[in-house]
Amino acid sequence: MPSIFTKIINKEIPCYNIVENDRFIAFLDINPNAKGHTLCVPKQEIDKIFDMPEKLYLDLMQFSREVAIALEKTVPCKRIGMSVVGLEVAHVHVHLIPLNEMKEMTFLNKVTQSDSEFKALAKAIAAHLT
Ligand code: 5GP
Repeated sequence: MPSIFTKIINKEIPCYNIVENDRFIAFLDINPNAKGHTLCVPKQEIDKIFDMPEKLYLDLMQFSREVAIALEKTVPCKRIGMSVVGLEVAHVHVHLIPLNEMKEMTFLNKVTQSDSEFKALAKAIAAHLT
């Protein structure tokens, strides 16, 4: 059965898309730890990050870095935190989280945003990509 992220990649379910290419996609986390919480996902469905082929792993890191730089230009924060968990969705994804406080890395700290706020944020991050 395809992962929820494969369904997003295949446009079967919607997301607040920031950017995508033939191998990766970045979209806003639907239940963010902090405003701007973004997921960077390889289109190839692999469960665990360190099972990825090395080149795909390194390219995911490069893609994530580009998104993180745009995110930091968009959302006021002290820095962008990066985390890989995968306990909920068994499809590799890098969490990029604008941080002001340590609790924002805990995944217990959640913020709510309206549909229009999500849309505006995804658009603003995309506009900062070079
Ligand atoms: P993890 O697998 O790393 O523990 O967490 C999965 C993350 O994916 C969570 O932060 C959760 O909010 C996010 N997530 C789960 N389902 C969806 C979805 O359908 N859309 C989006 N945008 N994010 C999701």
